[in-house]
Amino acid sequence: MLVDCHVHLNNYTQNPGRPTKENVDELFAKMAEHGVDHAVVLTSYKADVDRPSAEQILEILADDPRTTVVEGLRWRSEARTDLFHMEERLRDGIVKGIKLYPGYDKYPINDPSLETVFRIAAKYDAPVMIHCGDTYAKDAKVRMAHPLLVDDVAVDYPDVKFVICHLGNPWFQDTAEVLYKNDNVYADISGLTLGDFDYEFERYMVTRVKDMITYMGDPGSQLLYGSDWPLVGMGRYIKFLHNLDLPDDVKDNIAWRTTAKLFKLKLPGAPPL
Ligand SMILES: [Zn+2]
Repeated sequence: MLVDCHVHLNNYTQNPGRPTKENVDELFAKMAEHGVDHAVVLTSYKADVDRPSAEQILEILADDPRTTVVEGLRWRSEARTDLFHMEERLRDGIVKGIKLYPGYDKYPINDPSLETVFRIAAKYDAPVMIHCGDTYAKDAKVRMAHPLLVDDVAVDYPDVKFVICHLGNPWFQDTAEVLYKNDNVYADISGLTLGDFDYEFERYMVTRVKDMITYMGDPGSQLLYGSDWPLVGMGRYIKFLHNLDLPDDVKDNIAWRTTAKLFKLKLPGAPPL
């Protein structure tokens, strides 16, 4: 069983203007090719021709059992998320979580304006995924996305479950500390490279992740498999998970079980949780 907790249906530089339906078809083709049973689709902090809104994504995916949608918060952009409608979608189980894009969307993780968002997340037990660490965009503010700031919100909102995306790359040690300290914080291993790993860089990342695991203890209860497809190659990223060389039960937890529990996924054919 394999669940990818972090994929996108945006267009990036290589295919501007591509209809979202084509991206969806490609996602399902890649999942089938690489044996990915389920994918969590994260919508963007912007809505434009290359970044479909949560509403558009929900319409195109039409409750496909292979996918779960997590709604990207549009907070500082021109067309902000309507929290009333987001709350309805969470209440109805149409979206299963909220994704924050601090740094890109020009607010820090511990911005007081997010209180309403976190209260909604607590009310519906909806995980809050947070882009943490390096921002590929030069006009984003990376300090605002530092994983150490997740400690602030994890302490202030103990009823909310937070996911540090990308292990907070390159602040792995800070992420390990925040995970070790807070049981309501998780982290996904997505997006640690762009495209496919080369050998040297993959060895580097495997070492970083192993160091984190040594520090934080049981990785299976807090780490989640995610790729960041299409920014990374799905097949090569699955190989990265295997190259971490973890015991089978720990690997299974990272590969699907912890994500399934966190998002309360119904996975056809999955063994009992
Ligand atoms: Zn991503």
